[in-house]
Amino acid sequence: MKMKYLVIVVLMILSGCGEAANDIAEGDTAKVRPAQTYSWRMVTTWPKNLPGMGVAPETIANMIRKMSNGRLDIKVYGAGEIVPALEVFEAVSQGAVQMGHGAAYYWKGKIPIAQFFTTVPFGLTAQEMNGWLFHGGGMELWRELYARYNLVPFAAGNTGVQMAGWFNKEINSLEDIKGMKMRIPGLGGEVFNKAGGTAVNLPGGEIFTSLQTGVIDATEWVGPYNDLAFGLHQVAKYYYYPGWQEPGPTLEAIINKDAYDSLPEDLQEILRAAILTVNNDLLAEYTARNNAALRELVDEHGVELRKLPDDVIKALGKISMEMTASIVDEDPLSQKIFKSYTRFRKNVIAYEKISERAYSDARLLVEGGS
Ligand code: CA
Repeated sequence: MKMKYLVIVVLMILSGCGEAANDIAEGDTAKVRPAQTYSWRMVTTWPKNLPGMGVAPETIANMIRKMSNGRLDIKVYGAGEIVPALEVFEAVSQGAVQMGHGAAYYWKGKIPIAQFFTTVPFGLTAQEMNGWLFHGGGMELWRELYARYNLVPFAAGNTGVQMAGWFNKEINSLEDIKGMKMRIPGLGGEVFNKAGGTAVNLPGGEIFTSLQTGVIDATEWVGPYNDLAFGLHQVAKYYYYPGWQEPGPTLEAIINKDAYDSLPEDLQEILRAAILTVNNDLLAEYTARNNAALRELVDEHGVELRKLPDDVIKALGKISMEMTASIVDEDPLSQKIFKSYTRFRKNVIAYEKISERAYSDARLLVEGGS
């Protein structure tokens, strides 16, 4: 008898469980149905595993894989592995791959106004770019612009203020730039052309050899952390600052809109969160590493650090203001982006003067520097 009751009780429990499972299945299919997995490819404009920006796409992919429990699996390809560096935009836009990592100013030939979403000479710093994009209306404008190319953009890293670059002769006046061939992308390149030089838009992987073989006379790349990794001190003598041409370039992650729309909402949110984390973390990495790398360049490799003369800065600044305004065209969206950026820049300079800059000056007073 006892056995018979036990069997009945067990059967009741089992059937009860079955009903409960059915209830869940009917009420919330996502909990029982095997989760759909997505295999994506991400192409980048960076040499594979270049410190900082070359590792950032891998970090994004790893975070997404873990956070999604493997449901969104993204394989990362360095520049030239399946798509050349400067064709990343097209590849993602056309859906050949789902995702890309690079910088908007590489596409200036196609969308001049896109340069505002990376950096413009004498423009916003990293901290200010984040302010404009996330709380100043910039991101909405970026999405509107890239929707035309079937892309969803994200801010995906920042190097902070860059260096003006590597030269084999001293820059004492604008005359010294005349006839010089320099790797300098974006609007900074246009300004350099206007100042009498010749700007070349080369991806990072081609810089060292180009400078070594004399294809270019000078180059800018990023800052001490990345420039040391490329060994640029082996092929140039003077290291100039400040990086007027790139005061805080925002890197971008771009996602093909059809691929993005095909994801359930939770995976879209995981993507957003992972990219945002890396956007902030990369700046922290550069802040931590640039100091050490600069010391190594100067103390161990004998690099000569030089500040651009004020007159040269002023002249480049004047050209920059004209050039920046000149990339705005008839397109109302282009004008909207320019107005939004310019207004934010103006307001932020007024506050920066009495906050960040005033504090930096105060700290230098205490340190005894200038
Ligand atoms: Ca640069």
